This record gives sequence, C-alpha cells and structure tokens, in this order.
Amino acid sequence: MSLLADLQNILDSEHVLTGEDAAPYLKDWRGRYMGKALAVVRPSSVDEVVAIVKLCQQYDTPMVTQGGNTGLCGGATPSNKGDAVVILMTRLNKILNIDTENDTMTVEAGCLLQTVQEAAEQAGRLFPLSLASEGSCTIGGNLATNAGGTQVLRYGNARDLTLGLQVVTAEGEVWNGLRGLRKDNTGYDLRNLFIGSEGTLGIITAATLKLYPLPVAQVTALLAFEDIATGITILNRAKYGFGASLTGFELISSYCMENVRRGMPEIKMPFEPEKAPWYALIEISDAESAEHARQLFEKVIEQSFEAGELADAVIAESQQQSQSLWHIRESIPLVSARLGQEIKHDISVPISKMAEFVAVTNAQLQTLLPGVKHAVFGHLGDGNLHYNVGAPDGQEEGFLDNQKAVYKVVFDSVSAFGGSISAEHGIGQLKKDLLLDYKDEVELALMRKIKRALDPHALLNPGKVISSVERY
Ligand code: FAD
Repeated sequence: MSLLADLQNILDSEHVLTGEDAAPYLKDWRGRYMGKALAVVRPSSVDEVVAIVKLCQQYDTPMVTQGGNTGLCGGATPSNKGDAVVILMTRLNKILNIDTENDTMTVEAGCLLQTVQEAAEQAGRLFPLSLASEGSCTIGGNLATNAGGTQVLRYGNARDLTLGLQVVTAEGEVWNGLRGLRKDNTGYDLRNLFIGSEGTLGIITAATLKLYPLPVAQVTALLAFEDIATGITILNRAKYGFGASLTGFELISSYCMENVRRGMPEIKMPFEPEKAPWYALIEISDAESAEHARQLFEKVIEQSFEAGELADAVIAESQQQSQSLWHIRESIPLVSARLGQEIKHDISVPISKMAEFVAVTNAQLQTLLPGVKHAVFGHLGDGNLHYNVGAPDGQEEGFLDNQKAVYKVVFDSVSAFGGSISAEHGIGQLKKDLLLDYKDEVELALMRKIKRALDPHALLNPGKVISSVERY
C-alpha cells in the first residue's frame, strides 16, 4: 500500500487532491512561495484528522495544516521537496454551540472568521476579532497565528479571545480542552502554547471563544494631522477621553491614501490625500445610545481641535459612511499587493518610541536607497505598524532584490528601539532565519525543546518558525 492509497481509504477520493486540483493550495496569498505536496487532503471531522495524522506518522511524512491560506509569512505553504501532505481544514466548519449565559461559543477550526462573527451577532453577541481577510481566513488559522487586527486595542488579540481548544497532537491523540472557564490555574497553559504555534506543535480542530455585548452605537471618524507624534497625543487623549469605548485607532500615511486613490478609484475619499501627511481612522463603541456616543466623541475631538492637534476631521453620519471609511483602511494591503513592489515589515515598538523609530528608520533607508517610498500604516493603538518600503519611482524592476539589506536596516532599528520583528503575522518561513538573529538564545533553546517534546519526529509544518532537527 502507499500513503496516497491509504489516504483514499480514509477520505472520498474527491477530498484527496493531487496535480492541478492541488495547485491552488501550494502557493501563498502574496504569491511569494510555491511548494509541492504528495496530496492536499480535506478532512471533515476530528476522527478524519486523527486518521490522517497517524498515517503521516506511519509513513514518516510531513504535514502542513492550512486554513484560509491568507497568512502573510508562507506558514501554510509546503516546501518544494514535495514530500508533505497539506491538511486543509475548511470542511471542519460547524458552529458547535453558542452559550449566551456564559458568553462563549464553540466552533470548528475551519469556520471562516466572518461566519463566526455573523453567528455571534445573530445570537445578540459580539465576537470582536476583525481583520481585512475575515471573509477568507479561518478561526483555526487566526489562532495558529495569534492574529491581531483592528480591535486589539479594546479586546486583545486571538489569544485573549480564546478560552479553550481542541487539538490533534503530532502523535494523533486528541486533547479535548474545550473548556469555557474564565479561570483555570491547573498547571501549564497548553492552550496558550498551541495558540501562535503556526501548525508546528499540533492541529487545532475546534475552539471555545469569548463573546461580548454588541455595542449599541458606534462612531467612526477619519482624523487628519501633521505627524506621528501628534497622532500619539491624539491617541492618548482618546484613550483617556473614551475609556473602554475606544475600539480602534488605525494610522494611515498620506502615501497609503494616495495608493488607495490610485489603485481603487471607485473608493470615495473624504479628503484629498494631500490634506495632511497622516490620518487616523478612529472608532468608539458605546453601550448607551447613539446620542451619548456622538456627544462623547464630539467633546474629545473638540478638545483635540482646540489643542491644535487636528488639521481636519470627518465623522461618519451613517453606517454606510462608516463602512466606506473602513473600506479605505482595509483596502491598503489589497492595493499594495496589486500595485506591486514593496518590502513589508509587520513590526511593533513601544508606542512612546513610534515617532522616533519611523523618523530614524526612514532616514537610514533614504541613505541606503535614495527615493524609497514609506508606505506606513497600521494599528497605532497597539504599537504595531505595517512599515512597508516601496520602490523609488521608475525603479520597480528588481526592487525586491534589496530585501535583505532593507530587512537589516529595519529590523536592526526595531531591535534598537526594543520592538518585535513580527507583531501579528507570525514567523512562518519568511522570518525563520531572522528569528535566529533577533531572538534571545535562551528563548530559542526553550522553543526548540518544546518543539522536540511535542513533535519528536519534526513532522508538523517542518521548516517553519523553528527547527528542532538538522534536516530542516
Ligand atoms: P493560513 O494562512 O491557512 O495559515 C496560517 C498559519 O496557521 C500556517 O502556519 C498554518 O500551518 C497554520 N494553521 C492554519 N490553520 C491551522 C489549524 N487549524 N491548526 C494549526 N495550524 C493551523 N493578520 C493579522 O494578524 N492582522 C491583520 O490585520 C491582518 N490583515 C490581513 C489582511 C489581508 C488582506 C490579508 C491577506 C491577511 C491579513 N492578515 C492579518 C494575515 C492573515 O489573514 C492571518 O494570519 C490569519 O489569521 C490567517 O488565517 P488562515 O486561516 O488564512 O491561515
């Protein structure tokens, strides 16, 4: 018997994909990584995942778990050795339970994030994880990457939103940790170990998530201002003025606004991108009433105007206008993928150091490559920027060849400012070598020990995050 024949005994042959049928799952969202695989398999139950894992162990075959394949670090793409099985999780897509008394919901890992949000809303609750890829990414992928998104400021990242997990281990055992408890101090925290492990320690098959009250009213606005330091002053004013009502504070450079205007002319802009060098999309969510939200919002914005911080502000007058403002923000990564040549960095530094970090790093990059564009945007409220570097005019061809030199400047600077080389996208294969340069030796050694303990034969997503054995 062969592995392929054995897989076909577990799953209908239409769910064991090879050749052309497998091709869409062998490259990443950005089109930077292309891999090969023995097969792409589509289980629909935990039992099928277990059977696949046991077979892969028996045949000493690497496994790459894939959700919506929207990851930005090549974590879900197999290597080009062609020796792996890709386990696609999208058929495990049931909402298993919504418990409004305990404010929890339990869902299978292959559910789309948007489906999870909608199911929560139908039950009169909020599941606040929100990313521009929410129509395609899965909750399993969100947990495997500990995704962030636009509401971390108020609700935390994927890890903060998770109470329990079900995981199939490298040996094919099922850890049933689907507990909805808010408090459980019974030893090592396995849940938080699997979250963020990018498919290298186990396969997440289901999760119990936290639910929140739906906001009664929201106010969204686009603010225009002169520089990042002023943006941070406004952020601090908003944090103290709005308290827990502040749910989003997204920074957008005028260069990114201009790109959206160029790349998606159908999007309506409330300002010309030249209005100011920087913008922030701000949102508050109120538990009382639309009137209360609006009054609170206007009071804080008025103070900001009086203090001379704001060049202008547009407040959305309707849900539709609010969606249009979010559409501008969410279109930035899509437009940049379409327009092309950018070297991207998903970094965090302490918020208090953000303005200096951008000024210093911009200057260093101009010395290295005069004329580069600074396509900066991101989650300012979390100290997380997508600090992207675009080709100088007319030099798009071959610009990505500068990646190594640009990485060195940016990540050395991130490190000098006490930041992280990956704020929310993870490590995958993109930053695996960089991790060795920027992470503490003791931390790396502990990570290797954990990997060796949970995946002794190094079959779970090898070549990603950290290697525990020589062959990867
Ligand atoms: P995949 O891409 O399929 O996989 C990602 C990693 O998780 C891989 O290592 C894979 O092996 C592993 N994995 C997937 N499913 C499982 C599972 N069930 N068990 C174990 N391991 C698994 N990310 C953010 O954090 N914040 C953002 O704001 C954000 N915005 C984005 C906007 C766009 C337009 C795009 C394209 C991406 C964005 N992302 C963002 C990145 C991406 O959407 C997230 O990383 C998302 O969480 C990945 O989910 P996925 O289902 O697509 O996972």
